[in-house]
Order: sequence, then C-alpha cells, then structure tokens
Amino acid sequence: MPGSYTSELAEALAPDVLDRFLRYVRIDTQSRRDRTSSPSTPGQLDLGRVLVAELEEAGLNDVRLDDNGYVIGTLPGNGNGNGNGDGNGDGNGDVIGLIAHMDTSPDAPGRGVEPIVHRAYDGGAIELPREGTVLDPATMPELVDKLGHDIVTGSGDTLLGADDKAGVAEIMAAVAYLAAHPELPRPTLRVSFTPDEEIGEGATLFDIPRFGARCAYTLDGSEVGELQDETFSAVEVVLIVRGIEVHPGQATGKLVNALRIAAQIVAALPSATLTPETTADRDGFIHPTEITGTAGKAEVRFIVRDFDDDLLGRHVELLEQTAARITATEPRARLEVNVREQYRNMRRFVSAVPKVTDAAEAAIRAEGIEPIRRPIRGGTDGSRLSEMGLPTPNLFTGGHEYHSVREWASVQDMAAAAAVVVRLADVWSRDGNG
Ligand SMILES: [Zn+2]
Repeated sequence: MPGSYTSELAEALAPDVLDRFLRYVRIDTQSRRDRTSSPSTPGQLDLGRVLVAELEEAGLNDVRLDDNGYVIGTLPGNGNGNGNGDGNGDGNGDVIGLIAHMDTSPDAPGRGVEPIVHRAYDGGAIELPREGTVLDPATMPELVDKLGHDIVTGSGDTLLGADDKAGVAEIMAAVAYLAAHPELPRPTLRVSFTPDEEIGEGATLFDIPRFGARCAYTLDGSEVGELQDETFSAVEVVLIVRGIEVHPGQATGKLVNALRIAAQIVAALPSATLTPETTADRDGFIHPTEITGTAGKAEVRFIVRDFDDDLLGRHVELLEQTAARITATEPRARLEVNVREQYRNMRRFVSAVPKVTDAAEAAIRAEGIEPIRRPIRGGTDGSRLSEMGLPTPNLFTGGHEYHSVREWASVQDMAAAAAVVVRLADVWSRDGNG
C-alpha cells in the first residue's frame, strides 16, 4: 500500500534511501568531546570511506575524503534546463551545496546499532527487544501521525543514528538518482559529509572556498516539512573561582571554599525563568552544564543562548554580575570569567540571500508538503557555515527522539526528504539568478 508516500518520486527513492540508511547506521561513528584530531573518532573515517566509494559508484566527480575527515564530491550541472547533458556544468553557473554530518551523539550508546524496520505502523506502542525500551505514542505526538508508515528504530539499547545518517542517506539517494537521470535539469551540486557536528566542530575545518558553493542546505532537521533558517546565538561561559584550601582541622578563619562560592553563584541565578526547563519558543536561557573542582578551586561551565544577540549579551552580563557580586562577599576569593562565542543565529546571514530559503520552500511545496518554519533551539553546522560566508539553512530528515535509545525515523518521511532534494535541484536549475 503506497498511500503514505508524499509522491511517486518519494516512493521510487524509498528503497535506496532505506538500504543506504540501514548500512550507515551499523557503522559506529560516535564522536567524542575531548577531541585531539579531526575526526575525533576513527569510525567516522570508516563511514567516510564507504560514502566515497558509493559517490564514485553513483558517478560523481572529484570525490574524496580529506585529511580532516570531510567527504566531498561533485555532481556537475547539466545546463540551464536545456538538457545538453555534456556534464560541464555550463548552465547558469550556480553551485549548490548539500551537507549532512556523519557522526552520532556521544550522549547515548552508539556502538552495535541493530536497526529494526517496523512495517506499516499500526498506531500502537512499539516495544523494542532490549532494555524494555518502548516507543509510546502517548508521549510521542509525532508518532501518532505516522500511521501506515514504516518506522525504523534501534534495538532499545543504542541510539539509531538517524541524526544524521538519515540526512546522509537522503543526500546520497538523491544525487544517485539525479546522476542516473540526466534528463532532469540540475545545477552543479557539491556534496559534503562532515565529522564531529555533535561536538560542535563540524564547521571548524570546513573549507568553504574549496567547496565553492553559493549556498548550501544541511539535512539535519526532524519533522517532515521543516525548513529552518534561524538558530540560537550561542556563548559558553566558564567561571573559575579560587578559594584558599586548608586542612579542615586547621581551617578556622582561614579556609575559603571555592565549591561553596560556586554553588552560591548557581543558586543566585534566576531559576523560575531564563532556564531551558522554564522557557520555550523564542526565549533564551543561562544553563549551568558542569561544576567541578575542590575547596581550593572550582570551575562552573555555562551555556548561554538566545535568538537575539542583544538579549544574549544581557544574559551574559547578568551571569558575570551575579558571579562578581557573590564572589565579592568573600574578599579573599578570586573570580575569573572566560566568555567564548560558539555560533550566531544564522538568520541575518541567510536572509541576505532570499533565494536560498525561497528555493527550499518551493521544493518542499513541489513535494506536496506545507513547509514548517520554526526556529531551532540549538545550532547546526549551518549556523557557523552561514556566519563564515556560506548561507546554509536546515531541512527535515524524518528522524525523531534524537540522542536517545528511543530514536526513530519514518521511511516515508526520509523518502520525502530525498525527493525534496531532487526537486531543489529542479528549482535551482530553472532560475539561478535570484
Ligand atoms: Zn544532527
């Protein structure tokens, strides 16, 4: 029963998308935070080599895995819809990028993924074979909409890796399809699969001049229809409190406990507002992520987030002032504040080239889907790439419950994402001058 596919194109792409997806998720590509090289883990290179072979097999040019673990390849354009098919990319000259990340999150087990395809979802709870993991539609509203879909899950004890191997499989299936159908007009497509996105490093060593694209799209979203051109602006703040360590037996009047001061700083920050657990939509937050240390020296790490750069600055100021005020109550204590910018809201950079989101909207609509425009309460590779000069909004992949053992993806929605990529090529080939 083909009823749940968004189009015949999606239905035609589905077997290839699923086949590739099931192959990629079995490769352990979990990244790790304390990276000393790029990529942070060798498994990402294993997937990279598989993708290089598959891109070459599909007929792409200039395919390679670079020294930092980035896969790139080119599908030359075939003229501005005139179908001369000489493969020289002599059409309107637009070069459009397609990007997905190869690594999976370090936040849940990622080794030994054994995917399961649950055909024709019946609307009930999906019980996975291991660790009593259950996908319950009562707590997963997105699942309720997938009646009749084929749902892919892990086995209950690992993440699935749809974030972002769904995006990888969709781009692979779409460019293979376009390469096999030279009669379909397309611009030159540059493909890149990046390492270490989950640890915030996916854009770090991305060579934008070499990539040579006018704009790009990450396939790293979730619910079918999502088109995201707005992310948080993000700053990390690290406070170091220095006290005076003395043996507790001789501490009278001498010990200055840095841990106690650190705890007081956290306690003095707003807790009924300005936290991830009390905010939604467009509101930002100050979020302590880690306290470590001893009585002599304590370190508190925070992430600070907002969509508005001015408000973000005010949150950072509030944090600095609170830390300074609390530390000042003990004149012998010392405070050090380190503020590090992580990424900026991509909106300003993406909206400078309106055609980027317009084309994506047109492609999603051409697939019969109403675009969902929601800002991301987080960042993507595209946040930093956009700021670095490559406007890169984010598209849906069809995966859900990321970074958890309940992660799942709909085959029909993954196929829809691949179909949107095929249609995106068509939109750009028709009018590349906008
Ligand atoms: Zn992702």
